Amino acid sequence: MELRAKVPAGPIQDKWDRHKFDLKLVSPANKRKHHVVVVGSGLAGASAAATLAELGYKVSCFCFQDSPRRAHSIAAQGGINAAKNYQNDGDSIWRLFYDTVKGGDFRAREANVYRLAQISVDIIDQCTAQGVPFAREYGGLLANRSFGGTQVSRTFYARGQTGQQLLLGAYQALARQIALGQVTMYPRAEMLDVVVIEGKARGVVVRDLVTGAISGHVADAVVLATGGYSNVFFLSTNAKGCNVTATWRAHKHGALFANPCFTQIHPTCIPPSGHHQSKLTLMSESLRNDGRIWVPKQKDDKRPPAQIPEEGRDYFLERLYPSFGNLVPRDVASRRAKEVVDGGHGVGPLANGVYLDFRDAVGRLGRSGIVERYENLFEMYERITGEDAFSAPMRIYPAPHYTMGGLWVDYNLMTTVDGLYAIGEANFSDHGANRLGASALMQGLADGYFVLPYTIGDYLAQTKLETVGVNHTAFRDVEDQVTARVGKLLAVNGTRTVDEFHRELGTLMWDSCGMSRTADGLTDAIEQVRALRERFWREVRVVGSGEDFNQSLEKAGRVADFLEFAELMCEDALHREESCGCHFREEYQTPDGEARRDDTRFAYVAAWEYKAGQAPALHKERLEFEYVHLAQRSYK
Ligand SMILES: Cc1cc2nc3c(=O)[nH]c(=O)nc-3n(C[C@H](O)[C@H](O)[C@H](O)COP(=O)(O)OP(=O)(O)OC[C@H]3O[C@@H](n4cnc5c(N)ncnc54)[C@H](O)[C@@H]3O)c2cc1C
Repeated sequence: MELRAKVPAGPIQDKWDRHKFDLKLVSPANKRKHHVVVVGSGLAGASAAATLAELGYKVSCFCFQDSPRRAHSIAAQGGINAAKNYQNDGDSIWRLFYDTVKGGDFRAREANVYRLAQISVDIIDQCTAQGVPFAREYGGLLANRSFGGTQVSRTFYARGQTGQQLLLGAYQALARQIALGQVTMYPRAEMLDVVVIEGKARGVVVRDLVTGAISGHVADAVVLATGGYSNVFFLSTNAKGCNVTATWRAHKHGALFANPCFTQIHPTCIPPSGHHQSKLTLMSESLRNDGRIWVPKQKDDKRPPAQIPEEGRDYFLERLYPSFGNLVPRDVASRRAKEVVDGGHGVGPLANGVYLDFRDAVGRLGRSGIVERYENLFEMYERITGEDAFSAPMRIYPAPHYTMGGLWVDYNLMTTVDGLYAIGEANFSDHGANRLGASALMQGLADGYFVLPYTIGDYLAQTKLETVGVNHTAFRDVEDQVTARVGKLLAVNGTRTVDEFHRELGTLMWDSCGMSRTADGLTDAIEQVRALRERFWREVRVVGSGEDFNQSLEKAGRVADFLEFAELMCEDALHREESCGCHFREEYQTPDGEARRDDTRFAYVAAWEYKAGQAPALHKERLEFEYVHLAQRSYK
């Protein structure tokens, strides 16, 4: 299989404009004849479905929640980047492009990243026009704050609820099209497979989560906007329902999976409080604008933080990275936090955290200044920990949060299956080996509002599609397979709950394929994942039936897919004999503990092909860096 990224020729700043002109158009009369399936109604899916419908296409949109408004995107707290340079602090499209390529440790495709930076400015205009209540300066201009890995303020925000406000904007646009009959919305519907006919994606098979009915849906193109797979670690900051099922099943039909081992561990989450826990909570990175991170210099120091004098505190990020301080990128901040905790300096009842301290910021801005910026985050912290972060520092620790890996897509966001697109967190594009804060919302909305609506037209305008219906044998076959798999899960009738398996998998992945990895650990993890998968299919107990609302069954299907996917993640991490961004192989580090890349051997996207019953096949998309020169990342 040949990977063709289809990056247009010409200077990077002209590529996208030129490409848009070269793309074939579908006339308004013909758009009405095309039907597009969009799976997912988070920021990526809702923006794509609404925009495609606004253009005149007929759209069917699916999500597993009871309403599109409950997609995981609603949880996004801190903000969305755009190179508007409202602060006049030296920002530009070039700088956002540069920061993102460098932040991703040179493992992203330059042309995509440049396009993302270009489009970022349009997103803010679009969302403001929709009425998204971004924070404003006293003079009326939109306000900005800083996020990690940059030295400018380019993050637009709506308190700590940016995702919610952006999603309401996209949802309004979607709801308008639902009311007009252009979009048919299927909530509580889980896509369990894609249907590929003669090499082209022609629809999906879906299970109604309320009735259990399994049905096929025909389309001329299919868009997966199904989010990320951080829940492979069981404990993560993601919504409990986030999963890999849609992309994994597409992978089994020929869509290559890119860089699955690139998973982001976010430095500022509330540390676990015990083994009972089933979910972790993010404390937005925006807090690092004003909070200072430290640990006691003395090991096992049990004194309350207020009793530890200034000279007894190690502000380790400020000490190690004087230029960026507490705003180093996430991979760097997480690794350093792990290092100090592993070294015996952890704080809190389980000694598993570091402090994020607002004492100085309160002194500078007053309590009201902090409340204005972060009120809901302080409130959330107090509700979860019972501690008031105004009187004592917050305790934080890294946790799984975002996945840079995803389905491989070309410049048009098409996977290796014709007519099958992946957008938002579900694809691998743009963030390389480490995503900078506030860039996921930017990418999801860039894909949904501004890229896919152009590129999908090019495919539809040029592709001859035979008329098919749900009675086509391909649909029948896939429906039968989906029905059989549901039946198989119910038939195991073992003794262990789905959650027990998920928790065991998560612990294994966190220990072996989490913040740091070794060849020995990964080799062992592959064996253990295989054994766990085998036990799952022998011992899992799924209660209830397949004919009604059954969350145990839903979870079982997702965990079964995680158990297959986890093996590929470990294979990918094992084969990449370098450290880059979030992928930290202990064998490959500089003397001062930074990631040591190997550009000669690994400056490529690793795209894996599924081979039934065999080892996956690796395909490489070589990455060329023409505009941002390959260099050791430094934030000192
Ligand atoms: C706590 C938290 C805070 C964050 N804060 C920020 C931030 O401040 N700034 C930022 O840029 N990023 C942030 N992120 C990351 C960002 O929120 C996500 O990357 C982004 O929202 C993903 O959007 P999406 O549309 O790709 O996917 P999602 O919002 O996850 O939506 C996925 C959709 O797919 C549907 N779906 C999935 N599988 C199936 C299936 N099999 N069948 C049918 N439907 C399916 C779901 O129902 C859902 O509608 C944060 C992440 C977390 C966890």
